[in-house]
Amino acid sequence: TVTTRFAPSPTGFLHIGGARTALFCWLYARRHGGRFVLRIEDTDLERSTPEAINAILEGLSWLGLDYDEGPLYQTHRFERYRAVIDRMLEEGTAYRCYCSKERLEGLRADQQARKEKPRYDGRCRELTEPPADAEGQPVIRFRQPHEGHTVVNDRVKGKVIFDNAELDDLIIARGDGTPTYNFVVVVDDMDMEITHVIRGDDHLNNSARQSNILKALAVEPPVYAHVPMILDEAGKKLSKRTGAASVTDYRDAGYLPEAVINYLVRLGWAHGDQEVFTLDEMIEYFDIADINHSASSLNPSKLDWLNQHYMKTLPPAHVARHLAGHLGALGIDPGAEGAPDIEAIVEAQAERSKTLVEMAENSRFFYEMPARYDEKAARKHLAGAGPILEALVGALEALEHWRAEDIHQAVVGVAEEHELKMGKVAQPLRVAVSGGPVSPPIDATLVLLGRQTTLARINRAAE
Ligand code: GLU
Repeated sequence: TVTTRFAPSPTGFLHIGGARTALFCWLYARRHGGRFVLRIEDTDLERSTPEAINAILEGLSWLGLDYDEGPLYQTHRFERYRAVIDRMLEEGTAYRCYCSKERLEGLRADQQARKEKPRYDGRCRELTEPPADAEGQPVIRFRQPHEGHTVVNDRVKGKVIFDNAELDDLIIARGDGTPTYNFVVVVDDMDMEITHVIRGDDHLNNSARQSNILKALAVEPPVYAHVPMILDEAGKKLSKRTGAASVTDYRDAGYLPEAVINYLVRLGWAHGDQEVFTLDEMIEYFDIADINHSASSLNPSKLDWLNQHYMKTLPPAHVARHLAGHLGALGIDPGAEGAPDIEAIVEAQAERSKTLVEMAENSRFFYEMPARYDEKAARKHLAGAGPILEALVGALEALEHWRAEDIHQAVVGVAEEHELKMGKVAQPLRVAVSGGPVSPPIDATLVLLGRQTTLARINRAAE
């Protein structure tokens, strides 16, 4: 079975690059009816935090990326790593290195002076017993083959050839017995029977070391696919400042998970020129062969566009569930007794909001009358509008049914009666009920507000 894994280091939030990796791995597993494993690479005890773990789990769950196995924590697996190290020592694919820190530092300094790439010189490689001057606990090194080449047939990068002479004998366990990063990745990929490693291309160089260790363990290396990075809008490397934004930041900024997923899939993958994909389509079409070979750039206006598309086309009840959270953040309880129909608000507002935050702000007046009118709008539309507003109260009070068509007719009637253009009536009415110059169509707005609230607000504006 195809098995992919997402293996974040919990040292920060789930940022956009990590989320994209997770999505690609998830899609590939789903597409092939395989398994998707979540592995938390938390062996760096100094930098890993429980907050980061929570943020990753929360981000994945918000995106809807479910895993078939996990979360597995590397810190729970030290015994297993120890056992593999023992096995490698026994089989001779690893050896104890007793070189002191001073010796290694001296070695490195000499190599630097000769402008050579720093690498371990293999002094302990052939030892059969500890040297006489050995102190402290030895580290364990991988016995890297020094002849020939390591070829990684990367599905994105193509054939990448590493000269084995360049790969030195990696430390796989420190003096205190703790295993190192590249080693635990290998043991996990082996134990979890990972068939496809899809990850950022910053790990491309690790793949040579990792596949060599796997071969030493008599395991066929997985298929590697190293995905080019994501750049900011200006084509620069993402930094904290330029939008290595976390998934939860996107949520809080008012984007729907569907929009973020669709945005992410297009950051580095294409299917013809299609931009909008349902989840089923993504699963059906996703293939490693279509991952872009060059870096992709963030495109915030595309995200806005996708978000609006999904706000308009997803079932209003679904969008409403997300909107409710953003209204709550404004201190509004959309479930309160007598509150307007939130699904109808979604339908009325989707056209004029890019984000749910915007939609919530624009919809605030449905729940509470703003403390004051927009100053410019009041000056322009309310000053001197008393008679119109009174006429509107009369016409609206007289309606038998509080329905959009009837409301529309009533407003048209007042305009005709006063020989005014429709706007000259609708704008004062709009400012009176919403406090500002923009709202959904006036009839829909009044339906949502209900008759009582509408009349109370017009009367107040007419005073
Ligand atoms: N833990 C690594 C990271 O967060 C990923 C390692 C891998 O995918 O092999 O970058």
